[in-house]
Amino acid sequence: MKFYERVKNLPNERLAKKSFLENLLGNWDSDYLAEICKIEKETGILEEACKQTSTSQLTVKEELKWKLTAIDKWGKKLIRDQVKTKSSLNCMPFPSKGWRKADFVDDSAQSTTIAEFRAGNALLGNRETGFGLEFGDFCDDDGRIVWCPACDYGQNNEHHVIIDCEKLSEIRETLSVGGITLADYIAGWREKGLIRSEEILRKFLGGDEVRDKSVLKKRADVLVSMRDRYLSLWR
Ligand SMILES: [Zn+2]
Repeated sequence: MKFYERVKNLPNERLAKKSFLENLLGNWDSDYLAEICKIEKETGILEEACKQTSTSQLTVKEELKWKLTAIDKWGKKLIRDQVKTKSSLNCMPFPSKGWRKADFVDDSAQSTTIAEFRAGNALLGNRETGFGLEFGDFCDDDGRIVWCPACDYGQNNEHHVIIDCEKLSEIRETLSVGGITLADYIAGWREKGLIRSEEILRKFLGGDEVRDKSVLKKRADVLVSMRDRYLSLWR
């Protein structure tokens, strides 16, 4: 009953709610079914199922197992492709050993901060529609602040704030990350040949394979200090 209540209270556009409503109507010529068929095709399940019914006698358990494996493989590829192509995920470190819960994830505010920056949604006003209409030329038509109001140069995004914005140069020289300043951390990666600021931020957010999760949490404090200073310059 709990599950029923949860589904019933979902917004109508969610897939689970759509299937629930369609089920009530008995309408099986549905968007939901079309989505399932599309997934069956993309995973290769449909094609493989045709082959298997003509060649072997799998038990229900065996059939379920290979279908789940196919869906798992498809899901991982889908995530990998999206992380590679979505501009908002430019700074998301790519895991070397497959997708799993990251070591730093817990209930702390620092964990949330790291996740916000990794997902390109660090509350800078560049994702929230209608957020900054009073900022005029810095906004696009739907009110998202797309240009940096602090330096008038560069886009308003996570890597501009942490790595590039010249109005934050001084604070980069003072904030310490693992015994060196943020400025030195950035310079170190540039010396190693990393040019693009989103690549350097990706390293800072865990892409440098830092083992000690307390280090990553200290970096979260640095991110918050940088964001606070940045926002104080124009809000
Ligand atoms: Zn700037």
